[in-house]
Amino acid sequence: MTAGYEYYYVNDNAQPNGEHEVHKSDCARLALVNSKTYVGYYDNCKDAVREAKNNHYANSDGCYYCCRACHTR
Ligand SMILES: [Zn+2]
Repeated sequence: MTAGYEYYYVNDNAQPNGEHEVHKSDCARLALVNSKTYVGYYDNCKDAVREAKNNHYANSDGCYYCCRACHTR
């Protein structure tokens, strides 16, 4: 495993504002998610969010806690 790479998941259930949060596999918030979809294995959250938007949920955004650099809303 290359340093910096993480497994990313997107929450299948939208937030009240309609967005689907993207998490790293070890995020404490992800443990609370009932249903999630595997996004991919990336060394940065921007690629993960882009993939989530392209292939899963157009309204995806990085988690405030584990993907703060990609949290825009
Ligand atoms: Zn998270």
